[in-house]
Amino acid sequence: MIVLKFGGTSVGSVENFKKVASIVQDCKENKIVVLSAMSGVTNTLVSISDLLRASNRSEALQKIDALNEKYVSVAKDLLESDEGFYKAQIILKKHHQILKSVSEEVFTAQNEKIVMAQGELVSTNLFQLYLEELALESALLSALDFMFIDQHGEPKSALIKDRISKVLANHQVTTFITQGFICRNEANQIDNLNRGGSDYSASLIGAAVNASQIQIWTDIDGMHNNDPRYVDQTFSVQELSFDEAAELAYFGAKILHPQSIIPAQESNIPVLLKNTFKPESAGTLIHNKAKVQKIRAIAAKDSITAIKIKSYRMLMAYGFIKKIFEVFEEHKTSIDMITTSEVAVSLTIDDTSKLHEITNELQAFGNIEVDSDLSIICIAGDLSQNKKGVTSAIFDGLRNIPIRMISYGGSNYNLSFLVKTTDKIAVLNILNEGLFKEVALEEEIQA
Ligand code: ASP
Ligand code: MG
Repeated sequence: MIVLKFGGTSVGSVENFKKVASIVQDCKENKIVVLSAMSGVTNTLVSISDLLRASNRSEALQKIDALNEKYVSVAKDLLESDEGFYKAQIILKKHHQILKSVSEEVFTAQNEKIVMAQGELVSTNLFQLYLEELALESALLSALDFMFIDQHGEPKSALIKDRISKVLANHQVTTFITQGFICRNEANQIDNLNRGGSDYSASLIGAAVNASQIQIWTDIDGMHNNDPRYVDQTFSVQELSFDEAAELAYFGAKILHPQSIIPAQESNIPVLLKNTFKPESAGTLIHNKAKVQKIRAIAAKDSITAIKIKSYRMLMAYGFIKKIFEVFEEHKTSIDMITTSEVAVSLTIDDTSKLHEITNELQAFGNIEVDSDLSIICIAGDLSQNKKGVTSAIFDGLRNIPIRMISYGGSNYNLSFLVKTTDKIAVLNILNEGLFKEVALEEEIQA
């Protein structure tokens, strides 16, 4: 069994639905196809929820109707037979009605979850109808029958495994379609795995059925060695180890949801990142047999804030860092990078919603300095300390760039440093020159 997950853009239009169907048709193995909502839909559902929360019913209804119109027009173009379009109309009417009834009630957190779930429910239904029209035998499974989370929002892996095997056994087909993102919670109510959660669904399903591979289909050719928006001639990385992918996922969250690596890694299932719009490209394979390579990829993350806590009391004192960490824990703000000296600690966060409270409390421990508009540059690869020359290759070219923090040795697969966002593009290009030129040339020669 393999799992194929298609993101929002892959099912973003009639033309794209058809591309996905042809990829599914070409895949001769038994498969579970996991779909996101059509692109933009989850954002629309968020704004509908926001309007309803603010009791702005009329605007919410306008959006609900517009969404329905969009769906009807997609269904009309996608489904050629009258029968298919008729079935789609019945399904779309039901979903339209759900949103309309929610808009008439008092808007609760549970109603919001129901609203959020509609995108995936609709995309999978439309896709199933299209496959029926192509006479491709498939079964539409409701993720709400097997995807469960506990009271902490964590997946209940054993239950998922048990339920999904029962659900699969009910059908005689080799192609299954289901929704990403949505699930049921401890109270058996509709819930979700948070934004971008469809990758996580795919990985959890892959682990539950012990898939031989999990394919994540998006709109780029896998993980690039550098950011193609800022650097020319980037190339897709052929393979990555799970550890390298985990380091990079935080930075390139756009292509792969960071959390989604975990179930696949734990069950040792290779993850293949593919491009729906260029299915012939090899993509990136994440597995535990990846060849060791010095530098694999560079990625950057913006909107980073650095906080420095300077205190002479820290000199030879124990328990100091614990107290600092407790402040962040209390405000549920995660720390990404950290470096310390004898008298100061610098750390970075990307969620600044509690920055004011955090700095206020940290003042009890020393002088606080805050810098914003920074970017973390992450270099991933096999950077174990016994590899000589890696750090000089990295820093040689950067002699004119002010570096605010460096983190190295935390894991063997990552070296990160912090620069002003205004320097980011220069840094990515300088590193590309220094670290990948030879690799790029080699690729060119091979091509
Ligand atoms: N549709 C959801 C979102 O946009 C889940 C996903 O696509 O991964 O966040
Ligand atoms: Mg996504």
